[in-house]
Amino acid sequence: MNLSKSKYCQAVQCKKILWLDKYKREVKEEIDNKSVLENGTNVGELAKRLFGKYVDIEYNSDLNKMISDTKEALKEKNTIITEASFVYDNNFCSVDILKKENDEYMMYEVKSSTHVSDIYLEDISYQYYVLTSLGMNVKKAFIIYINSDYVRNGDLELDKLFITKDVTEIVESKKREVEANIKETKEFLSNKSEPNIDIGSHCFSPYDCPFFKYCSRNLPEKNVFDLKGLNLNKKVEFYNNGIVSYEDLINSNLADKYKDVIDFELNGKKDKVNKKMIKNFLDTLSYPIYHLDFESYQEAIPSYDGIRPYMQIPFQYSLHIEDKNGNIEHKEFLASGTGDSRRELALKLINDIPKNSCILAYNMAFEKSIIKYLASLYDDLSEHLMNIYDNIRDLMIPFKNRDYYSKEMHGSYSIKYVLPALYPDDPDLDYHNLDMVHNGSEASDSYFKLSMLEGKELEELRENMLKYCELDTYAMVKVLEKLKDSIK
Ligand code: SF4
Repeated sequence: MNLSKSKYCQAVQCKKILWLDKYKREVKEEIDNKSVLENGTNVGELAKRLFGKYVDIEYNSDLNKMISDTKEALKEKNTIITEASFVYDNNFCSVDILKKENDEYMMYEVKSSTHVSDIYLEDISYQYYVLTSLGMNVKKAFIIYINSDYVRNGDLELDKLFITKDVTEIVESKKREVEANIKETKEFLSNKSEPNIDIGSHCFSPYDCPFFKYCSRNLPEKNVFDLKGLNLNKKVEFYNNGIVSYEDLINSNLADKYKDVIDFELNGKKDKVNKKMIKNFLDTLSYPIYHLDFESYQEAIPSYDGIRPYMQIPFQYSLHIEDKNGNIEHKEFLASGTGDSRRELALKLINDIPKNSCILAYNMAFEKSIIKYLASLYDDLSEHLMNIYDNIRDLMIPFKNRDYYSKEMHGSYSIKYVLPALYPDDPDLDYHNLDMVHNGSEASDSYFKLSMLEGKELEELRENMLKYCELDTYAMVKVLEKLKDSIK
């Protein structure tokens, strides 16, 4: 079988993706295209419960088996089938949920997203094409997705958690387009010579393409696509106008702040330090300083009351407390991973941070949003939590304002760039030297594993999670130290 739902969607993004995947797979890069983590309860499984009793077509690597099982299930006059599988002219698809009423069908595509994106419409249009081409009387097509406004309160209310959107008119109107796309894709794939498709915004949307490095291999080493913060459409516009290299860009109408970044890199400029502004920032701090960093997880299906889908839920924090003599004390919290630990975390936090303290976070919007959320949950802790909220300062500010800038930051003020730029050769500040957990997404993945482990394995994972988060706030202590040194 030639095409599937996912392959068709890739072809919609760029047909060369499928061609390279077939003829030059060795140049493909690993890309994590998971936009949001889907942990805990599976969205697809839960959505099926909206329909009551159903027949499930079990996955089989032999797709013909799934197709014949579907045929068997469809002998019923009225039925609901999940993963109902079909093939038409070598185009295969499994429909998430198919409802049969007499000779009429309704199809449902389930998405764990909180909105209906264009690529989902392509996906279901392809399925509609396959089914209707087989002569099935598909009356309606729907996309079921997550309602981001839903807040859990007691048992899950599936009819409120999910939104069902009727997309019948859209899929009907796209049928010819799908047919033409499939035809064109098959022609592409049967041709052994590499298609002549240039890079552009399609390389990044709807998904980052794993062949971008290959397709952009002839660009200058430093080029417009490397510029941090510049809007993608702008990058493509420059590229299409032949303004590609850093040398081209510096003579273009690019905004000054980007030209500044290029100037630093092209001319190997020394660090820029605006002592006055850095001093102004440091003067807003008072000792002891509480360097704070949270780790959080997101889940599509809220496990506890007061949680919305994909909300950031804290499960861990690290706190370095620095006095005016440079003495440092470390405190931390890591949830057990079993049950709701939000209140336990909030209690420990107010115990660790007295009222009217000076608290530092790097990119404080995140820490503030977590604290505000906890304050909204617990009336009795709210006053103290909001006091912490009001006293947070942002260590990112001097870097965001470019009061301290070095060419190694490559135009970014994210701590991922700032830290190695300030401490290029310090193994104690290198996240690569950690075991198991190296970034926030690995930390949240690890959190979900805690409840499944025990004994030594559990201990080892917890220890590595703690080390990771500790490094986050230790890094802040060191970044602040650099700022203090810079004005001496
Ligand atoms: S990098 Fe761009 S041009 Fe190359 S295959 Fe991917 S989407 Fe197509």
